[in-house]
Amino acid sequence: MYLRARNYDATTGRFTQEDPIRADGNWYAYCAGNPVNAVDPSGCIIELYDGATPEEIEQYYLAIIYLSQSKTFMDIYNELCESETVFTICFIDFEPYQLSNPNGETQQFEGDRYVGTYIFWNPYSGLVLGDEKSVQSPALGLAHEMSHAKQDLDGVMGKIKAIYSNENARINALEKDNLKYEIQVAKELGEPIRTEYKAKKEIKMTNSIEYGIIENEEFINSNKNQGQFIQMILISKLLGVLISYITLRILNEIRRIL
Ligand SMILES: [Zn+2]
Repeated sequence: MYLRARNYDATTGRFTQEDPIRADGNWYAYCAGNPVNAVDPSGCIIELYDGATPEEIEQYYLAIIYLSQSKTFMDIYNELCESETVFTICFIDFEPYQLSNPNGETQQFEGDRYVGTYIFWNPYSGLVLGDEKSVQSPALGLAHEMSHAKQDLDGVMGKIKAIYSNENARINALEKDNLKYEIQVAKELGEPIRTEYKAKKEIKMTNSIEYGIIENEEFINSNKNQGQFIQMILISKLLGVLISYITLRILNEIRRIL
């Protein structure tokens, strides 16, 4: 079976061919070190890193269901799903992580990041905005990184890279262009909005769709009522997705045993 850019072996449930970027020298050692076998069962060809924990996967689906209330996000998500490129979600935590390039040089990173078809995402990291009070949800961080993937698909990333030789200038231009999507998604979800890209300050959240205001060192969750609503659509919409996912995992386990 030929699936997009790679060969998918249905008997093992794994890709038989390393994707071109990975074959080129272990660029993404952290995430791609293990083969990826969990294709988003909703039918979207966005893969989840094979080493992902059930909790991380649950937070990812929670985020997608939450974000799907935003039309702007759905346009971005659908563009990623329908493209020939297979994007991979790699889960990170608050610890720094390393990526090595084809020359064997390793670079240390922290926080969410988009690196050539790989989206590194912390499902528990909220972003504290410039007022030091407003906090955006980890889900919005995922939407932000997916917007970078959209910039890549649209050729905007390439154009910006060609124009700016200075790295800081390039990052500023990329982030400025990205913010138009993030602001729109935040508005549609009722989350706090940042108007400019500033140095990141993170806060640990209890789940991927939590956002709100910090007052007197205490985090006031402004997502409480919405949380219940989310749980309701989660049950109706996500149940099917989870059942397909569980079935997929069980089938893979059976194949392994046989
Ligand atoms: Zn960014």
